[in-house]
Amino acid sequence: MTFSPPVSKSFETLPLSAAAQENLRRLGYLEMTAIQAASLPAALQGRDVIAQAKTGSGKTAAFALALLAKLDARRFAVQSLVLCPTRELADQVTTEIRRLARAEDNIKVVTLAGGVPLRGQAASLEHGAHVVVGTPGRVIDHLERGNLGLDALATLVLDEADRMLDMGFVDDIVKVARQCPAQRQTLLFSATYPEGIAKLAAQFLREPVTVKVQAQH
Ligand code: ADP
Ligand code: MG
Repeated sequence: MTFSPPVSKSFETLPLSAAAQENLRRLGYLEMTAIQAASLPAALQGRDVIAQAKTGSGKTAAFALALLAKLDARRFAVQSLVLCPTRELADQVTTEIRRLARAEDNIKVVTLAGGVPLRGQAASLEHGAHVVVGTPGRVIDHLERGNLGLDALATLVLDEADRMLDMGFVDDIVKVARQCPAQRQTLLFSATYPEGIAKLAAQFLREPVTVKVQAQH
């Protein structure tokens, strides 16, 4: 199924809390970008989504708003996991999720990427994380050491999925996805849609809504 971007681009058309709407205004996010307008209605309904749009089109907020809307801050368990190809991208995604989560109560976002000692990351996880953003290899490290549990996971995001495949992470992604509960929402974001992404999507997404935005944004 392919959706065309809806006509309205105001965030106010979305079922977001008043606090989240206010936070978006404060951030200067006045209108949705095309990929946000195309993907957020389905993502906020809990559908699996495959979203394709070029770099810089606002894909991070598209999945971040969807996963934040579902979070229960009072529950100290990892409810969302975002897999990214590199440490730099994981840091950027963490920053954006924190900005968008400012309206919520004490949402803890932990970044798990290489180049940083495992111990500090393990301690952060132990203190209680609601959202984990990480690279596949480092996430597996923590899963195997028992530092990270995914039993309460509600949302799995594969961000920059095409780059993760280019970098040879497919087996790692499969490994992580297999440890996630079957009852979850999966969101796949990518700048391009090569064969490998279609295969991955067929394996891990359920009746996904596919949205694709060309050029303009
Ligand atoms: P992508 O992941 O598609 O490459 P990003 O999520 O990194 O793009 O977004 C690019 C920039 O656009 C970021 O600086 C982000 O803060 C900004 N941005 C995202 N959505 C909006 C919006 N609705 N209004 C204004 N700026 C936005
Ligand atoms: Mg991105």
